[in-house]
Amino acid sequence: MLTSIAGKSTIVTGGSKGIGKGIARVFAAQGAHVMIAARGAEAGEAAVAEIQAAGGTAAFHQTDVADWDSVQDMVAATAETFGGVDILCANAGIFPQVKLIDMSPDDWDGVMNVNLKSTFLCVKACIPAFETAGKGRVVVTSSITGPVTGFPGWAHYGASKSGQLGFLKTAAMELARYNTTINAVMPGNIFTEGLQDLGQEYLDTMAASIPLKRLGAVEDIGNAALFFASDEAAYVTGQQIVVDGGQILPESLEAIDEI
Ligand code: NAP
Repeated sequence: MLTSIAGKSTIVTGGSKGIGKGIARVFAAQGAHVMIAARGAEAGEAAVAEIQAAGGTAAFHQTDVADWDSVQDMVAATAETFGGVDILCANAGIFPQVKLIDMSPDDWDGVMNVNLKSTFLCVKACIPAFETAGKGRVVVTSSITGPVTGFPGWAHYGASKSGQLGFLKTAAMELARYNTTINAVMPGNIFTEGLQDLGQEYLDTMAASIPLKRLGAVEDIGNAALFFASDEAAYVTGQQIVVDGGQILPESLEAIDEI
């Protein structure tokens, strides 16, 4: 049983859908006050309504995590709504597929800005709030893709997800003076709106290549993030945990067939 995060002001970027929505639901169920930050207001307000209907506390702030002014507004709105910022879940991300031969410099920059630069912007914007509070928590949503595995079409995506892990090593050292930890969850294939867009064949072949024989649920990531956000994880920083149903373990197709 983890110490309660009840009443903790928590920003979840990309909290309107998928993994972020799962993190928001898990945290709100534990009593956290959750600010859902995303671009689309309709899905964001729907996620807020869902949490409120379950008895939780949530609000939505329209945010583009790749834009510095927008990120600063997000942090200010959260502080105003919930009285500070205790936890940042830097989760928003995109994963368009395009092979290198067709990848334009703009394709590359777009993914880097939303996935990697945003991580820096969101962390930077929260530092004054963590300093005021005397402590803080950052949980980054990275991926197995990039740091551990590869997939055609995701060179830019994989680089951005590896970049987040490189960022957090030094960030962990710099945030320590604010009594703030930063850690990353590395999801495997989690059943989300974004993943569904990749098509049924992708979902089926992925599920077949996972030892636990299913895609992950968004709550699987929410629960791992919850640990990093808890008081019990106070001495864990600059680390990452793979949550993938064992997907990165098999050495060959035969190894999977043996299960
Ligand atoms: P998703 O279902 O497509 O949801 C993405 C969320 O991010 C949405 O709320 C989206 O809302 C928001 N978002 C996208 N661009 C944004 C921007 N510029 N500013 C603010 N919010 C933005 O994706 P997901 O599958 O949950 O993925 C979430 C995170 O998990 C990503 O970082 C992804 O790399 C990582 N991940 C996912 C998987 C997986 O299997 N699903 C595996 C490994 C890692 P708007 O579009 O309305 O802004």
